[in-house]
Amino acid sequence: MFMTKITETKNKKEIYFKCKKCGDEIYWNTNKQMIHCKCGALGVDGCEDYVRLLGDEKNHEEVMRERKTENNLTKSI
Ligand SMILES: [Zn+2]
Repeated sequence: MFMTKITETKNKKEIYFKCKKCGDEIYWNTNKQMIHCKCGALGVDGCEDYVRLLGDEKNHEEVMRERKTENNLTKSI
């Protein structure tokens, strides 16, 4: 398996888009709202079906991480 486009959201990965200019991170699912980072260089508009990115590609990067839904994520395995 390989990822070609970031528009693939079927895997429901915990993807954030990070602006390299201001360091803001925006979660991929914005519920069809265009959300901009602090400096405005990056805009994310995403929902279950698609993710649209606004701005120069070199100004943002894809970040994958666990979404913090709980405070206690530290578990000893
Ligand atoms: Zn920014």
